[in-house]
Amino acid sequence: MWGSPNPSMGARAGLVCLSSSLPTTTTTTGDDRIHVFWHDGMLNHDPGTGVFDSGIDPGFLDVLENHPENSDRVKNMLSILKKGPLSPFISWHTGRPALIPELLTFHTSGYIDELVEADRNGGKMICAGTFLNSGSWDAALLAAGTTLSAMKHILDGHGKISYSLVRPPGHHAQPTQADGYCFLNNAGLAVQLALDSGCKSVVVVDIDVHYGNGTAEGFYHSDKVLTISLHMNHGSWGPSHPHSGNVDELGDGDGFGYNLNIPLPNGTGDRGYEFAMTELVVPAVQKFQPDMMVLVIGQDSSAFDPNGRQCLTMKGYREIGRKIRTLADKLCDGRLLIVQEGGYQVTYSAYCLHATLEGALNLPLPLLSDPIAYYPEDEAFSIEVIGSIKQYQRDTIPFLKGS
Ligand SMILES: [Zn+2]
Repeated sequence: MWGSPNPSMGARAGLVCLSSSLPTTTTTTGDDRIHVFWHDGMLNHDPGTGVFDSGIDPGFLDVLENHPENSDRVKNMLSILKKGPLSPFISWHTGRPALIPELLTFHTSGYIDELVEADRNGGKMICAGTFLNSGSWDAALLAAGTTLSAMKHILDGHGKISYSLVRPPGHHAQPTQADGYCFLNNAGLAVQLALDSGCKSVVVVDIDVHYGNGTAEGFYHSDKVLTISLHMNHGSWGPSHPHSGNVDELGDGDGFGYNLNIPLPNGTGDRGYEFAMTELVVPAVQKFQPDMMVLVIGQDSSAFDPNGRQCLTMKGYREIGRKIRTLADKLCDGRLLIVQEGGYQVTYSAYCLHATLEGALNLPLPLLSDPIAYYPEDEAFSIEVIGSIKQYQRDTIPFLKGS
């Protein structure tokens, strides 16, 4: 798997920045830093323009818009980490493309062949809203390989917290199916690498506003990976996404009970998410006792995202980051991989990312104030729903009974 000419050499070389656009970095490898993995080549994926994410121009509009999963959103995430107050806490690493044999640890060869063929033929729409254009496949390989490098950095003991800043995203990509702007399941590949490297159990907490169906499906029959997804209650959205994301999709066989879906009512905000974390996520993770923590983040659960209907603000993201860090410290010797997924509001997503990483660093005070949060939250309904999910899980899931 890692038999290629030292694919993690950039990381092992000691936090050297190899990309021209990245700042020169420190050589500190303490626990109080985040190791960010990035490669400029991921900017070359261009899903085009149209009516929102359709890629269609019916001819009625003078002004079309960029596909929501455009490079600008990630340019701002990169920028805020380089220029924002968190920058002294960050070490930069250059990512690398995944190798085809690495992809086969999560995806089938038939599926990968389909993507390679689509790329060779100049690209096409793989499924609704998901466009593999010229440059997309190379970017997808970089997203997968960069996430593998971020995980490898932790596994090799070079750092405790890695953040994989990648696009195209991955958590909807299933072993045999692209979906929801995703081709390769970056987080799923990293989880499998952790298992193949000796980790006995891995937890994945996914706070992107959409159900992490691809990651769930990849480990649906496994009791070694606990997948937890907090998402809006969007249900299935077509042939590429048959999963409902409902509470009763619990896993199969040995994996029964190890996929926890937490569909939250539209409008759930900071207090609702905090309640879900405290009542559902933290107790389940403590019972599961993982030795590696993976936090899958999407800022499309923010109050201003065009692709989500939730109301998280920077404060809420910060608290989620803090709670996950506390769990990682308690259960996983501080080992935490953070993987980027969605988040489509081009400016606020970057601020919410900054807040999440502040939380993951467990900083005592916010470093950056929220420029726009103002929606009042009425959390009563969310809290009622979370209470009923808790009861359902206690009644149904063997490892949570009596918790
Ligand atoms: Zn999403």
